[in-house]
Parts: sequence; structure tokens; C-alpha cells
Amino acid sequence: MAKAHRRPAWIEVDRTVLERNALKMANVVAPSVLCAVVKADGYGHGAIESAKAFVKGGAHWLAVAVVEEGIELRRAGIDEPILLLSEPLGGGMEEAVVHKLVPTIYTHEGIVQLVQATKKLGSQGESTQFHIKVDTGMHRVGCAPGQLVDLVELASQFREITLSGLWTHFALADDLSSDFSRAQISQFDAVVDQALTGVNQTVVVHMANSAAAGRYEEARRDMVRCGISLYGYSPIDGPEEPTFESAMALKARVSFVKEVPENSGLSYGHQYVTEHQTTIATVPIGYADGVPRRYGSCGGHVLIGGKPCRVVGAVTMDQLLVDCGRVTKVQVGDEVVLLGSQGDEKITARDWAKWLSVITYEVVCGFTGRLPRIWVN
Ligand SMILES: *Cc1c(COP(=O)(O)O)cnc(C)c1O
Repeated sequence: MAKAHRRPAWIEVDRTVLERNALKMANVVAPSVLCAVVKADGYGHGAIESAKAFVKGGAHWLAVAVVEEGIELRRAGIDEPILLLSEPLGGGMEEAVVHKLVPTIYTHEGIVQLVQATKKLGSQGESTQFHIKVDTGMHRVGCAPGQLVDLVELASQFREITLSGLWTHFALADDLSSDFSRAQISQFDAVVDQALTGVNQTVVVHMANSAAAGRYEEARRDMVRCGISLYGYSPIDGPEEPTFESAMALKARVSFVKEVPENSGLSYGHQYVTEHQTTIATVPIGYADGVPRRYGSCGGHVLIGGKPCRVVGAVTMDQLLVDCGRVTKVQVGDEVVLLGSQGDEKITARDWAKWLSVITYEVVCGFTGRLPRIWVN
């Protein structure tokens, strides 16, 4: 990290923004409980600090994709319930038991493995809690609706494990032209009612991600699993004003400045050729940090001196070039904003997503570990 700090390129994340977003979402969905999704290093923001901010803002649960991510949170002293969003593979089931992560299960083998792992490594007399996921139309992971009753029955035969949650996941909740989510809700309801007949313990029922939590009140149930909205980006690719504040900024400092004459080819392949004499600033950040090679050729900009400036030529592994034609007197050390605000101008993750033809999730998850995360506030 010390080395990375010497290179002036970094991500700033505002903790108070994350906390406010969680508070806002918790209020919107109440009395449903908020589960903050912090997989993929907190959508690129930093999992531990993000998790702490969300908990402070009112999240009662956390969710991660893989066991390692859950262990990272436990090692940081976080002791909220942590849901694993997929069934752990290999030795993952045992690690889930040891670190008291709540696994999601959707196979017979998964139940048997969880029982064995608990017998071997569980705390004395303590039953391992788990959730079952039903596939109602995403067709990624989950048991078929018709298998749910069987799984619940199988699990009920073992005192080592306790079913404490049932959930499903939407495939089109972010698509305003689709109502497929309603079909998923009805299918889920039908099998859940059936499966929970005769079950005495409390079972947390949940289905909504950020898009569904906002769009479908009837999908909020006992808990919502929100990621993208809590970081401040809309899950829905529309023109509407974002409800939540974005917490991430990507910044760097100019490392070199030069005048180039007209007709100069820039960077690898000379993909860009200057039309007239201009000032080119070099910025020490590249595709190894998550700024795609084509960021300039697809229209990507940065802010320097409070003005939007074009990225020109191929982005290289560690550096990129900016045409500063419109900025007077750019110098080494000047702040460059790739994501965030400078003066009255702003570049958002949605701008990036549009330029690159991707979704905002990919933009924020795409910044690599070489960029230090600096926490502000
Ligand atoms: C990632 C994920 C979420 C969170 O989705 P957002 O759209 O970021 O709110 C919820 N549930 C599951 C199963 C996920 O994989």
C-alpha cells in the first residue's frame, strides 16, 4: 500500500455517504430488515469499511458471494449475521461453520455436508443456521420450486442444522418494461407456504435486490438484500434522478505535460492523431487499475481544472493521455477527477457505463486492488 500511495492515483470513498444510504434504505423498507450486500470487496469500495458503515446506518445483516469474503469480515471483528449467497463448495462448508457464516443451500448433498461439517466443527450443542434458495426464474442457482418441500423435510431430520431463511432472486427487477418479477413472486409464495406448513422456528423470507426493493413493495417481505443502491448507484438504467448519493470518487494527479504539434499520433497504435497543436497531460493510471484500454476511443472524459477533457489514444497499462486543449496552464501535480466532482462538473459511474456500454456495477467493481482506497469522513 505504501508504494501505491506514492503514485498519485487513488479511490476515495465517503463513509458517511454509505451510512446515509443505508439509513435511507432501512427507512424505506421498514419494517423489513436491511441486508447489505458487500460481495466483491463491497462492489469495489472496500468490504470491511463498507460493511461497518452500512451496519452503522441500520443494516442488520450482511451478504457476500463466497466464503473468503465472509471470513474477511469476521477477521475484521464484524459479528452481524453474514449470508453466503451460494452453496459453499469443497472445504467451504466447514469454513462457513467455523466462522459462523449462514450458508445458502439448494441441494441434498449441501444439507448432508452441512450436517457433517457441524458434527465435526460446530460449537457444542449449537445448531447451524442456513437458508434455502429457490430458483423461480433466474436459472442461475437454487433448487427447483418442486424440490423445496423435500429439502425442508430432509433438513428437519437433523438436529445439527436449523432452517432459518428461504429466498429467491429476481432476473428482471431492473427492467421497467417487464413484469416477470410478479410471476416469480407468485411462484415463490406458492411453494414457500407449502414448505413452511408445520415448521415451528422463525424463517426469514426474502427476495428483493435493490431494484425490487424500490419497485415492488410486496417483494420486501422480512428482509431485502441491497447492494448497488447502498453504494449510491441506480440499479435501473433510466434517466431518473438517483435516489442515493454515490460514495466513490476516482482521482489522480497529472504526472507529465507536453505540447504536441498537429498530426501527432498518440499512444500505442497511434489510434488518435491530433488535429492541431494541443497540450497533452499524462495521468498515471491505466487498464491495470481498471480504466479500460478503450476508455478514450468510446468517448471517456476526465476533469482537469474544473473542465471535462477527452482521454485520447489507447489507455495503457499504467498511464493514459488527456487532451487539455481547453484548460489553461495545466501542470504536473494538478488534480484529475475520473469519477466524481470537480468545480461544477461531475463524471458519474453511469457516464462511464454509457461510454463503455456496460452497467454501473461493472464500472465500480472493475477498479483493481492496485488503487488504494482512501476513506474520507
Ligand atoms: C448481488 C446480489 C444482490 C444485490 O443486488 P443489487 O442489485 O446490487 O442490489 C442480491 N441478491 C443476490 C442473490 C445477489 O447476488
